[in-house]
Amino acid sequence: MKVPLSGPDITELEIKYVNDVLKSNILSIGPVIETFEKKVAEFTGTKHAVAVNSGTSALHLIIKSLDIKDGDEVITTPFSFVASSNCILMERAIPVFVDIDPYTLNMDMDKIESKINKNTKAILSVDVFGQPMNMEYINCLAKKHGLKVIEDSCEAMGAEYNGVKAGKMCEAGVFAFYPNKQITTAEGGIIVTDNDNLADLCRSMRSQGRPITGLWLEHERLGYNYRLSELHAALGVAQMERIDEILKKRDNVAHMYSSRLKHIKEVTVPYIDPQVNRTSWFVYVIRIDEKIDRNKVMQYLLESGIGCRPYFTPIHLQKYFREMFGYKEGDFPITEQVAASTIALPFFSNLREDQVEYVVEKLQEAIKKCSR
Ligand SMILES: *Cc1c(COP(=O)(O)O)cnc(C)c1O
Repeated sequence: MKVPLSGPDITELEIKYVNDVLKSNILSIGPVIETFEKKVAEFTGTKHAVAVNSGTSALHLIIKSLDIKDGDEVITTPFSFVASSNCILMERAIPVFVDIDPYTLNMDMDKIESKINKNTKAILSVDVFGQPMNMEYINCLAKKHGLKVIEDSCEAMGAEYNGVKAGKMCEAGVFAFYPNKQITTAEGGIIVTDNDNLADLCRSMRSQGRPITGLWLEHERLGYNYRLSELHAALGVAQMERIDEILKKRDNVAHMYSSRLKHIKEVTVPYIDPQVNRTSWFVYVIRIDEKIDRNKVMQYLLESGIGCRPYFTPIHLQKYFREMFGYKEGDFPITEQVAASTIALPFFSNLREDQVEYVVEKLQEAIKKCSR
């Protein structure tokens, strides 16, 4: 049996909407992107949504819009996909890392304030593996010190903390739509915000710095081509119409795993903060006891046709971060300890029960073979 790590959930509806665009003759800057943006804004409960060609582009435009630049410091997590720090480097600002909480795997709240100084401009929090952060607390800290808050919810679309949707309680939030995310546009991302000015700036910069209303060859500011095509937006519209169904299917898969894995003493299943009243599963990441050789377990799973991955390599230990900032092993010990123990198991909305059973069976065999 082969079980891939991830896969999109595409139905006849997505195919129809994409075909409709192909037949419409408008392939970019048309009505479908507006429909997609409206659906996402309604879903999140924000005034605006601005769709772009990737989650990374979305983060970059927010950094630009908030005028974060050379030498400014932005507090963030080293345990994330690298884009959440790259967007800061793109404007020559400095990511300042805070070690994580070993349970939620998000930034450790108690370690944030000591990193704030006169150069700090913003907190960029990441909802890791779909678990939203306590944004009320982050906002309090930000208000006290005059900082902006950006929420990278690229992994958390649909999750709710204390009844508030991920991405909503901040200056600007971001979702991403690469095929392994909860919903996909193949490639794509979106900025959600209540701030009119920030939304306008992002709309202008995603399309070569053109004014929102104005002539095609008029350019008010440095911009980019970060536009999302109508084809991609059509995929997004169909996925948004199905998002509740998709999140429910992902919930089911997570429960199939958890009910089978929680009895295995060498395995720690994902922890969910009790304040999270709606989960949104991005990946299913387990942690393996340190007495077991994690890399050997992964090797065994791969040889058994099971996709798996060590989510994440800590950002501060990536080659160019070491070179730029002199980071080394031991700088963020909890992040490093967690990163050395994780395995992302196959996870997508159409994963079948027999596939989950096969993964669990092979995982148990691997654990028996791989104790140190
Ligand atoms: C997926 C993801 C992004 C954006 O990725 P793109 O591939 O640029 O869409 C950003 N931050 C995090 C934490 C992510 O998981």
